[in-house]
Amino acid sequence: MNENKPGILIKFPIFIDTMKKIAVSFLLIFVFTIISLSQSVPLRIIMIGAHPDDCDLGGGGTAILLSSMGHAVKFVSVTNGDAGHQTQGGGALAKRRIGEAQEAGKRFGVTYDVLDNHDGELTPTLDVRLQIIRKIRDWNADLVIAPRPNDYHPDHRYTGVLVQDAAYMVAVPNVAPDTKPLKKNPIFLYFQDRFQKPNPFRPDIAIDITSVFDKKIYAIAAHESQFFEWLPWIGGYLSEVPAGEKERLAWLAKQRSRPINQETSKSLEKWYGIAKASEVKNVEAFEICEYGSQPNEADIRRLFPMLK
Ligand SMILES: [Zn+2]
Repeated sequence: MNENKPGILIKFPIFIDTMKKIAVSFLLIFVFTIISLSQSVPLRIIMIGAHPDDCDLGGGGTAILLSSMGHAVKFVSVTNGDAGHQTQGGGALAKRRIGEAQEAGKRFGVTYDVLDNHDGELTPTLDVRLQIIRKIRDWNADLVIAPRPNDYHPDHRYTGVLVQDAAYMVAVPNVAPDTKPLKKNPIFLYFQDRFQKPNPFRPDIAIDITSVFDKKIYAIAAHESQFFEWLPWIGGYLSEVPAGEKERLAWLAKQRSRPINQETSKSLEKWYGIAKASEVKNVEAFEICEYGSQPNEADIRRLFPMLK
């Protein structure tokens, strides 16, 4: 009997050591599973514009990049676009524009909702504010992008106000109690614009969309009534619009290419590094809104995974 004792004494520490190794392995597997699960949960982004084509112009390239990475993007037009044409209008034009928005949505890889408010007549009423609160809640948004309230077009301006008005209320259960309030207030950003008063746009975030610029142009071209009819007519350059489809896309790409200003270049350098920033040809920039959750740099890299 005694002869066995030394053997037991030697084997017991080995057993403890093996158990420790197994426990550590399980712990590591658990931690890696949690990390990979958290990374695979798609982000939920909602962009809100006044007209069917506003989100497309302001954030379309970013939407293509996010959607191609498996994230869920929705565009919302707060008006139905029923005033944006020189010869058409009313219900028939709204119908045409909803069809164009659906086609654009397919090309961008996003879902596209058009709210039934008249174009050119938008005001920041409680009714429209509630429509927007419900859209943000239904999408369970992590990130909301909308125009700033400084803009030449009243619909753009009031869309900015309406989204600002929703930026706290989305988390308040007694407001629009028919939709579930968000547990966490999303992060709100503004689309880029050129307006200087009372303060110019600040490009806090700059996204390189060079690789998807042609796709963006193809997608916005779905809004035929706008880019090839209405905007050239009101801008006085209708005669410049080419007839062929290929020629139209090339013309639109040229028309929508913008030089990158100094502020945006600085932002690109911050997010991509100097070497990569110098190669960027097309960019979409966003400003952080003071309302809603305030992101730090890590939050921004999580919400824009192309920056990792
Ligand atoms: Zn617009």
